[in-house]
Amino acid sequence: MFPAHLLAVFDRVDIAFESGEGAWLTATDGRRFLDFGAGVAVNSLGHAHPRLVAALDAQADKLWHCSNLYRVPGQERVAKRLTDSSFADTVFFCNSGAEAMELVIKIARRFHHVAGRPERNRVIACTGSFHGRTIATLAAAGTAKYLEGFGPVAEGFDHVPFGDLGAARAAIGPATAALLVEPVQGEGGIRPADPAYLRGLRALADEFGLLLLMDEVQTGIGRTGTLFAHQDSGVAPDVMALAKGLGGGFPVGAVLASERAGSCMTAGTHGCTFGGNPLAMAVAEAVLDVVQESGFLERVRAMGERLRAGLDDIAAHHPGVVAEVRGKGLMLGLKTVPLNTEVNGRLFLNGLLAVGAGDNVVRLVPPLIIGEAEVDQALAIIDRTCASFSG
Ligand SMILES: *Cc1c(COP(=O)(O)O)cnc(C)c1O
Repeated sequence: MFPAHLLAVFDRVDIAFESGEGAWLTATDGRRFLDFGAGVAVNSLGHAHPRLVAALDAQADKLWHCSNLYRVPGQERVAKRLTDSSFADTVFFCNSGAEAMELVIKIARRFHHVAGRPERNRVIACTGSFHGRTIATLAAAGTAKYLEGFGPVAEGFDHVPFGDLGAARAAIGPATAALLVEPVQGEGGIRPADPAYLRGLRALADEFGLLLLMDEVQTGIGRTGTLFAHQDSGVAPDVMALAKGLGGGFPVGAVLASERAGSCMTAGTHGCTFGGNPLAMAVAEAVLDVVQESGFLERVRAMGERLRAGLDDIAAHHPGVVAEVRGKGLMLGLKTVPLNTEVNGRLFLNGLLAVGAGDNVVRLVPPLIIGEAEVDQALAIIDRTCASFSG
């Protein structure tokens, strides 16, 4: 059995990494890889970013864990940064994306409960979405293959096709509490929502008195070229989940809510032992310091455009391998003609790490700090890999 003693839920590649620097990883056997997977969009500032290392080191010398029974100054600072830069007025810190989404769902229900409408407790979510692996978040996404064997499925979710505003409207009933969407579906296959769709969902939520919930666990913190992916649609959610990129590799999740949506959560209604610990907050604050520096997001957009243009070119030259390029910013996907796992395997052998996604997509989510040379190197590897399919 490989590897021994680990629950066999991951189909692991037989390699272990020993160190990283920027967009590069070095394996224990000395092989080097250009990392366009970034730990599934987690290593937002690459590996061993000096400012993240310094922030973590400095905090490690002072205090690691402190219960939420007491004030945690780092949480107050990061929350201020997040609310100053978003629609939100209030933040809750946890440890992961699924955990953040659990609270998003709890807020949707409790919002109506305290308003005297307890019958409004269902969330309308989109097919092809991904919200995590807990019992409730699996039910929220409704993906059959992830739910298989884990029934009974948690109650309270209805599903409509992603992008179909008419279907969303038709699904709204007297029990509907909220609408839930990823601005770009990640696991589902790098499918960006049309900004008009997000605006339409906002209008529906307002018309029917529902909360608009967004899962920005993968898209948040600069990934798509704006701090949050919904920001270029011109509308904002009432509640939003963050995680992956926020800690740059240190586990942290967050729920951001408007005052109106968040005020239903009073003392004792939710909690988290580890959430927002001083180490996580020190790193998250350093991530925000870097991502919010002037010019950083412009660079993300420029690198995204460079990568996108190169991928479009490759797709034009290898129509038998790349059927479609899609995505936004540095969250791009190649829908491949051969099995995405086969393409991914060959990219790996050529020194490039990428991640699979649904709909037979190879997902490219490099660290946001990549430069032109690294984009060009990745493109050269992808081009060479595509050419290997016609030979
Ligand atoms: C990764 C992801 C999650 C789950 O995050 P975990 O930290 O693995 O629990 C939820 N939603 C989206 C959109 C994600 O990409």
